[in-house]
Amino acid sequence: MEGELPDYQAAAWLMAAFLEGLSLAETRVLTRAMIASGEVLDLSRLGRAVLDKHSTGGVGDKVTLVLAPLVASCGAVFGKMSGRGLAHTGGTIDKLESIPGFRTTMEAEEFIALLEETGICVAGQSPRLVPADDRLYALRDVTATVDSNPLTAASIMSKKIAAGADVVVLDVKVGRGAFFHSKGQALGVAHLMRSLGEEEGIEVLPVLTAMDQPLGHAVGNALEVLEAVATLRGEGPDDLVEVVTTLAAKLLVHAGLGWDYERAAREAGERLENGAALAAFRRWIAAQGGETAFIDDPSRLTPASLGKVEVRAPTAGWVSSIDALAVGRAVHALGAGRSRKGEPVDHAVGVVIAAKTGDEVAEEDLLATVYARTREQGEAAAAAVASSYTISGEEVTPPPVVLAYQLH
Ligand code: URA
Repeated sequence: MEGELPDYQAAAWLMAAFLEGLSLAETRVLTRAMIASGEVLDLSRLGRAVLDKHSTGGVGDKVTLVLAPLVASCGAVFGKMSGRGLAHTGGTIDKLESIPGFRTTMEAEEFIALLEETGICVAGQSPRLVPADDRLYALRDVTATVDSNPLTAASIMSKKIAAGADVVVLDVKVGRGAFFHSKGQALGVAHLMRSLGEEEGIEVLPVLTAMDQPLGHAVGNALEVLEAVATLRGEGPDDLVEVVTTLAAKLLVHAGLGWDYERAAREAGERLENGAALAAFRRWIAAQGGETAFIDDPSRLTPASLGKVEVRAPTAGWVSSIDALAVGRAVHALGAGRSRKGEPVDHAVGVVIAAKTGDEVAEEDLLATVYARTREQGEAAAAAVASSYTISGEEVTPPPVVLAYQLH
């Protein structure tokens, strides 16, 4: 960070690490050096276990928006510093910024004060936390060395450790719309991240979840916020509810409440149904300066409708797959994501998936609706979404979404 190491040497080192791998001991040294490049938050004054979550990124992944208020409604403290989205997976901060007035930029003092007051805070990651990751990631990006387990584990865990949480649930996505395409690679990275956390006294709880098709129905910033609210009302799609309650139960076991996994899962499920999680969401949004009117009146967050286009089933049958990557790219092309750091994103565009894998459809049934700024953009996205669908003549069983919640 002092500029003494030229980029060409750092890039050569990254390529060596990419090709040869790093031992666990080397990965630990790298993680510690990355943490030491910046500030480390001390959350001990809260006197409670602070829970955090990280997702390796997926399409339609609005889990944090539901998980944060859900665990807070159970009496736990949830504090997360989140990066902005890059590539085809949107970031939580971008989704939250669809809410008028919602503030995600704040100093550490305010982050801690909000945790004390409401038990929830989700803020943009401070640039002073692990600045070395920004530099290394930029070099990895241009040298094709992103796809490395030790470099990825050190990048993620250094940021989680520096942000000060005690317990981190890791939603490791696996599938064609995810960073990891195979369960084997996801498991490798999950074990590595757990070891790195252990060393620093942090409980790391990896869960492997499927990312072959988008999670839930909505893909796009404001659309995902609205789906999160529906889920907090007890009206969420089954796959999203299952992921959220699994992650919540994993965290709540370590929140000092004396709950085992079964009790934690039951308590979390009840709070999605009885309005307690929705009430916590309302308090959280207001505490970070957001307008809450959209919670009762979703029309306040209207999606772009000039380019609204419906995608219909070309034949009758069962949906056998929906390519999450293709849907993610289509939504990205509409303007919901960014290609370069610092670019603005469009909160109002996206896709709502009507038919999921395993659903039976008749010819001309609605598969998905595209919300775009112009008819032309809408048609282009609709064509991409249409070709992301495969329809089979034979019955298809809906695939599982939680692939592993206990690592051995
Ligand atoms: N996410 C990160 O934060 N870092 C990586 O290296 C990969 C995914």
